[in-house]
Amino acid sequence: MNTPDHTLPHWIDGRRTTLDSTRHTDVFDPAHGRVARRVLLATAGDVSAAVASASAAQPAWGALPPLRRARVLFRMQELVGRYSTDLARLITREHGKTLPDAQGEVQRGLEVIEFACGIPQLLKGQHSDNVGGGIANWSQRMPLGVTAGITPFNFPFMVPMWMAPVAIACGNSFILKPSERDPSPSLLTAELFRDAGLPDGVFNVVQGDREAVDALLVHPDVRAVSFVGSTPIARHIYETAARHGKRAQALGGAKNHMVVMPDADIAQAADALIGAAYGSAGERCMAISVAVAVGDIADALVEAIKVRAQTLNIGDGESAGADMGPVVTAAHRERIVSLIDSGIAEGATLVLDGRRHTVAGRESGYFLGATLFDHVTPGMRIWQEEIFGPVLCVVRAANFADAVALVNRHEYGNGVSLYTRDGRTAQEFGQRIEAGMVGINVPIPVPMAWHSFGGWKQSLFGDLHAYGEEGVRFYTRYKSIMQRWPDSSSKGPEFGMPVNQ
Ligand code: NAD
Repeated sequence: MNTPDHTLPHWIDGRRTTLDSTRHTDVFDPAHGRVARRVLLATAGDVSAAVASASAAQPAWGALPPLRRARVLFRMQELVGRYSTDLARLITREHGKTLPDAQGEVQRGLEVIEFACGIPQLLKGQHSDNVGGGIANWSQRMPLGVTAGITPFNFPFMVPMWMAPVAIACGNSFILKPSERDPSPSLLTAELFRDAGLPDGVFNVVQGDREAVDALLVHPDVRAVSFVGSTPIARHIYETAARHGKRAQALGGAKNHMVVMPDADIAQAADALIGAAYGSAGERCMAISVAVAVGDIADALVEAIKVRAQTLNIGDGESAGADMGPVVTAAHRERIVSLIDSGIAEGATLVLDGRRHTVAGRESGYFLGATLFDHVTPGMRIWQEEIFGPVLCVVRAANFADAVALVNRHEYGNGVSLYTRDGRTAQEFGQRIEAGMVGINVPIPVPMAWHSFGGWKQSLFGDLHAYGEEGVRFYTRYKSIMQRWPDSSSKGPEFGMPVNQ
């Protein structure tokens, strides 16, 4: 049992360690609204120790046959399944999301481990026999060395699993810098990797804030950086990593729209919106935060959302039957409230106001009720900015073309969804919409582990999406080998460009 004095350490070289860290920050229990524990914040020196451990471990790990690396991941898959409830409880206590939602998060992380178990097949190269003169040419994918991942608070297990299993399966070592707001799952994850037989130093955890991140970004031995978080930090990560010669993929923020056509089934669309807007208190990068009501469906849709949102069961994420828990910190709650205030000031119609919601027995918790705005327009901050809370904005569009234009003019392009009964409209939407992940009658189209996850525009900086085959490409470098075994009679030097004639 953690006491408020308990301070969470790093995980380096296969064990918990405090190194020389003296800085720390508070970790909250959002349902009770109190400090639950503290976490260390690494210095640049601590990061160097982690990189040294990862550098020492990587060559032997990368030289193992991929099948033997896969076997460690098979054992990890089994262990994560066995400890899934423990992981989910740690997530709920520090993040606030409901326990079933946290269990869903663990499952989606587990699926990437399952994908990475197929690494021998994924790393298979291509071979051309006899390209000329008895020469064979083949290509293969090689590990990079030390890789690092910097992750956000909203999926403290799943997002690290978008990165680490693929990076490790490819033969790299990996340093995780988890969010300082919910760091506990990272340590249980590290213990499970150890118990799965992963050699010490291949997976490390450095707790910390900007100082640790910046140390990773400039360290010459870190070859690649994966980031998931807000857009301003994603841009900083991508630019700094590139300046220091590193490969980078930086997934940023989002403002996901759901376009509801006049022919949609209103009950289905409203149910989908409720789950996608208020699930996890809106703290998902794939949450729907804008509903675009097309044509004459708007009044009925707003009414259907309102009726459902009023019956949401909001409470401690660990309590049975809760639909929505608190948001992560008091500071985040204040920011959401100030954005709701701005929506009112800028003239949107406040249909449901969640600002003063309290939960009996949890009066200090960081709770908000479901908030619903109608008549939102593109000039308002609540349309422009990512709120990352339980706030749904309805924008009214005259027709399909206007709805598509509205979505496409937004600076973010993570996920988007369409509700319709018309196949032709769906086809058109899939082609014209500018976003990385599209759902047709699917509210949150998070790609499966063997497809890849990523947005467009300000939602992703870099060339490759996360996990799936894109992940394998990101964590490997391509090598082409040409080989000949000549007989003993030399033809003498050749000075022309070798060609087939
Ligand atoms: P955040 O950007 O505040 O933090 C993410 C990580 O960056 C954390 O590990 C944090 O310690 C670190 N960090 C914070 N400030 C930093 C700085 N100045 N310099 C260097 N590092 C810094 O994000 P968050 O609040 O933890 O997470 C929510 C955000 O993440 C939302 O914007 C959400 O949309 C986004 N997100 C995106 C995706 C996606 O796939 N696109 C997925 C999940 C979350």
